[in-house]
Amino acid sequence: MPGADLPVIVVGGGMTGLSAAWELQQQGVPYVLLEAGDYLGGKVHSELTEDGFLIERAADAFINGKPHALQLAREVGLEAEEIHPRTESRRLYFLRGRRLLDFPPNLKMFVPMDDESFRQSGILSPAGTERFLQEVNVPPKPDDGQDESLAGFMRRRFGEEALDFIVPMAAGIYVANPEELSMQASFPQFLAMERRYGSLIAGSRATPRATGPIFTSFRGGMRALPDAVAARLTGDVRLNTPVSRVLDGGVRLGSGEELRGRAVISAVPAWYAAPMFNGSFPDAARRMAQFRANSSAAVTFAYRADQVDFDLNTHGLLVAPSEGLPMTAITVHSSKLAGRAPEGHVLMRVFFKATEPGVARKLAQLYLHEFLNVQGEPLHYHYGDWRGKNPAYELGHLGRVAGMQASLPATVRAVGCSFTGVGVPDCVNAGRTAAREVLAAL
Ligand SMILES: Cc1cc2nc3c(=O)[nH]c(=O)nc-3n(C[C@H](O)[C@H](O)[C@H](O)COP(=O)(O)OP(=O)(O)OC[C@H]3O[C@@H](n4cnc5c(N)ncnc54)[C@H](O)[C@@H]3O)c2cc1C
Repeated sequence: MPGADLPVIVVGGGMTGLSAAWELQQQGVPYVLLEAGDYLGGKVHSELTEDGFLIERAADAFINGKPHALQLAREVGLEAEEIHPRTESRRLYFLRGRRLLDFPPNLKMFVPMDDESFRQSGILSPAGTERFLQEVNVPPKPDDGQDESLAGFMRRRFGEEALDFIVPMAAGIYVANPEELSMQASFPQFLAMERRYGSLIAGSRATPRATGPIFTSFRGGMRALPDAVAARLTGDVRLNTPVSRVLDGGVRLGSGEELRGRAVISAVPAWYAAPMFNGSFPDAARRMAQFRANSSAAVTFAYRADQVDFDLNTHGLLVAPSEGLPMTAITVHSSKLAGRAPEGHVLMRVFFKATEPGVARKLAQLYLHEFLNVQGEPLHYHYGDWRGKNPAYELGHLGRVAGMQASLPATVRAVGCSFTGVGVPDCVNAGRTAAREVLAAL
């Protein structure tokens, strides 16, 4: 058993690893944070161009309903920097049948709070709409402990056509195949609601709406969060320090040097973790290799406002899967969040499923022209390459996570976006929980 004076080693300086290090520091425990890259934050990273566009590499905001990210932001003094999606530019479109439809008003996530406005929206066919609203009469499935896919669950409750509307709203952050996405791992709240109220419509209408803003970001972009945590870390934080192996009682660095630790928290996605654990923990490594990933691309364009002949009082559009397009959404980022583009300019993001860089640019420009009347060449273009970097929470995911954790000693944890939630709040929670768990085990 390594000595009590040794630090806890945290591998990976994304939001999960930063949160683990922060929690260790709060508990007064020495730690070493090892990050392969030359900055902290991982996927949470923003760049300010010289002419004033704020480009997010991945996440642009986080949900407040899971309080962990907001709580961390407050702990590191970011309250005055918090901003929220603009409510005066709330219009959101839905692309279906190659037409831009207005989103139904009065939704709680995708659940209509009244039948009439949903009917009038015309978002689904008349038959599809009535089947959707019949969800209140669909009996709940007995709780047999079996996992169900997002598509299976929603089809059962709301009908086949409803998938077109629900999948882009619910599954966006998972970049997932809805036929494979695990309900137990991704949407346990809907399973609980079905069990408790017998229906998602009934349950959503019976529970009060959350008050206050739904999402939070920061004036200086999402990187304000990792930057603020990093600025307050007083422990041993090393950039450009890849770990090649997790050992029993420490790690081996890419340089060959070995560091001893009383516990190790791996806070890297499964595809980086599997080779690191192979050697000392082959069973865990084999289990990690079973977690698959999906591909996506986030493509950002900056324009002068006069290049866009469209009412910019919109957050953008979501694309119905039945459109058969590789694009999943367009965000008018500068309408959604303040301070993302200089006056008289527009910043837009186009999201794709797996798409190669060259194709993504051409296609995105085509779609921006077709659907939002964007003309000419952009002032800036940025390709966010997320090929093979979106954790796939496939059926049986929770069982695989439990099996992987059980194959490791209690002083070695593997956590982060591949395992217990992809959103920033889930990653913050995973990091902090892992820190508390290894301390309890020590
Ligand atoms: C396009 C896109 C948009 C998104 N939008 C949102 C959003 O709007 N809201 C939201 O809440 N979430 C969003 N997410 C999800 C969220 O950003 C991520 O799931 C989360 O930031 C992942 O954090 P992490 O620390 O677990 O992993 P990562 O951010 O991947 O961090 C892992 C870190 O480990 C380092 N590392 C890897 N291997 C090693 C090694 N061998 N040694 C040392 N270090 C290593 C990496 O360099 C990296 O810094 C989005 C994700 C994507 C891809």
